[in-house]
Amino acid sequence: MTERRDELAANLQRVRERIGAACADAGRSPEELTLVVVTKFFPASDVALLADLGVTDVAENRHQEAGEKVASLDPDVRRRLAVHFVGQLQSNKAAAVTRYADVVQSVDRAKIARALDRAADERDHPLEVTVQVDLSGDDAGRGGVRPADLPALVEEVAGLEHLRLRGLMAVAPLGADPAPAFATLAELVESTRRDHPDATWMSAGMSGDLEQAIAAGATHLRVGSAILGSRPAQR
Ligand SMILES: *Cc1c(COP(=O)(O)O)cnc(C)c1O
Repeated sequence: MTERRDELAANLQRVRERIGAACADAGRSPEELTLVVVTKFFPASDVALLADLGVTDVAENRHQEAGEKVASLDPDVRRRLAVHFVGQLQSNKAAAVTRYADVVQSVDRAKIARALDRAADERDHPLEVTVQVDLSGDDAGRGGVRPADLPALVEEVAGLEHLRLRGLMAVAPLGADPAPAFATLAELVESTRRDHPDATWMSAGMSGDLEQAIAAGATHLRVGSAILGSRPAQR
C-alpha cells in the first residue's frame, strides 16, 4: 500500500507540475483550476489514498462501478471528496446516480436532465451539473449535445429546480488537434455564461491534452491515466 501511495504521489506531483507550467505559459493561476481525478477501473483504496494526498475531486464514468465504489468509501474520506459522474447516462439510472454523485458533468439530453431533476428532489441541496457538448462534428457517439442544440438544452437545465447549471464539459475529438475544439468550447462557455452567470465551468483537458485545455481557459481538468496508470483496455 505504501508503494501505491508513493506511485500516486509521484504521478500527482508530475501532473501538478504540468498544470503549473501550462498556467505559467498561459498567464493563469493554478488556483483557477480544479483537478478532478478520474478513478474509473481503479479501486476504492486508490480513491482513499488520493484523498489523503490532497485530491478534492474524483470522477467516475460507469454507473455500476461508481455506485459500489463510492458506497464502500470510509465516510470520513467520502465527506472530503466531491464525486463527479462523467459517463454516459441512461435516464432510468439517473435516480441512482444522484444518490452518490455531487456533480453530473455528462448531461446531454433534456430527458436525462429531467430525470436527474426529479431524483434530486430528495436531496437537501441542488445537484450540480454541466452540459456535455459534442465537439466531434460527427455522430461518433461519445456523448454530448451538438453545439446547435446547446442553447435549448441549457435553457431546459437552467429552468429545473433541483439542478444547478455550472457550465459545460467536453472531450476533445480523438486523433485531432484539440486546440480548435477547446476554442469552440470556450466560446460556448462564454455565451452560456452571459445568460447564466453561475455557469462558469469549462471542464476540458485529460491526461493527453491538459496543456491545450488550460491554454483555452479550462477551469476543470479530468485526469485519469497520468495519475492512476494505464487502465485495462476499454471496450
Ligand atoms: C476516462 C475519462 C477521462 C480521463 O482520461 P485520461 O486520458 O485517462 O486522463 C476524462 N474524461 C472522461 C469523460 C473520461 O471518461
